[in-house]
Amino acid sequence: MKYVDHLPVDGKTVFLRVDFNVPLREGKVEDDTRIRAALPTINYLLQRRAKLVLASHLGRPRGKVVKELSLKPVAEHLGKLLGRPVKFSPQTVGEEADRMKEQIKEGDVLLLENLRFNPGETKDDVEFASQLARGIEVYVNDAFGTCHRAHASVHALAKLISVKGAGFLIKKEVENLSKALLNPSHPYVLIVGGAKVSDKIPVLENLMGHADRVLVGGAMAYTFLKALGRPVGDSLVEEERLEDAERILREAEERGIEFLLPRDHRCVREIKPGAEMRIMDEIESGWKGVDIGPETEKIYREKITDAATVVWNGPMGIFEIEEFSHGTVAVARAVAESSAFSVVGGGDSASAVKKAGVSDKISHISTGGGASLEFLSGKPLPGLQALEEK
Ligand code: ADP
Ligand code: MG
Repeated sequence: MKYVDHLPVDGKTVFLRVDFNVPLREGKVEDDTRIRAALPTINYLLQRRAKLVLASHLGRPRGKVVKELSLKPVAEHLGKLLGRPVKFSPQTVGEEADRMKEQIKEGDVLLLENLRFNPGETKDDVEFASQLARGIEVYVNDAFGTCHRAHASVHALAKLISVKGAGFLIKKEVENLSKALLNPSHPYVLIVGGAKVSDKIPVLENLMGHADRVLVGGAMAYTFLKALGRPVGDSLVEEERLEDAERILREAEERGIEFLLPRDHRCVREIKPGAEMRIMDEIESGWKGVDIGPETEKIYREKITDAATVVWNGPMGIFEIEEFSHGTVAVARAVAESSAFSVVGGGDSASAVKKAGVSDKISHISTGGGASLEFLSGKPLPGLQALEEK
């Protein structure tokens, strides 16, 4: 795969697919982390006097124009960050969009309206892609978070253009995630949590090939505990995943992987702030596990201390509620304090690390939730594959 610094972009009309899927409130950008993440590639292209056409999706308008999901406020915000005006095309494709693309000059920036206002985007429609391609000489993708989807702007379009490559954000993602996927250092500790076992099974199965230790927390722990016949009370369990859980436990044993499940739990009867909390080894009926317990916290911290590689996806508890965030914060600190090469993937995990105040001590926090999981599970991502095809 080529990166943008190896493409002939000088003075060319460049289509840059970015991830500007940011939260908006009252017509203003509320959190511009994703916009800032695209700045290195944008600035590089502007320095090279490219004529820059930017495109992104925002929210889920399902193929229709939804006024609240217009990218117009993002164009204004980007203009402030760049210190130069950013033109906005109210059309994503069509005559007016084509005219605006034609009129941009070297060093100019044009942002197209929300890609997903068009039904062709999520359908990977070639006709829609060829409208996007009109007037474009070079294609660059820097929207890592969308690369696991075969959507028109990251897949069909990339296949239509021969001069193409990835931006610096994707470069950073691919390099860092590859370190955890290919030839990682040992001891390798995989930490998995969060709500759904189903999402994490492929990652678990693929990464178990590398991991020396697996630490499980969050709601998914209860599916495993139930599979072992332990009492889980009213905790969240995915009944239809019990067999998968049994298989993973068997595989871990056969491969000699240390597979740890929480030994104690912080439990409540009702999930709400201020609820009465009890620490239980065996969860009683009427109670739910909402966080790993203090004993588990201590064991997990020790198991992280000597790690050389840590891959973490999914919080240890319902960390959004202060009283249930203890285990997650403790694990975040342990990862930060270890000298391991550490990768955190997943939106909630990234915000948990931020909440623990240790973001800058993590080697790599992935910007893509689903995309980073699929990458780490060894699946080829359609958006990256399309950059390689002729
Ligand atoms: P990520 O976004 O990092 O991939 P997930 O989306 O898989 O993580 O999981 C995060 C969610 O899991 C959070 O909303 C959190 O509240 C929830 N969660 C964690 N532990 C529990 C639990 N014990 N019971 C219910 N939900 C939980
Ligand atoms: Mg999540």
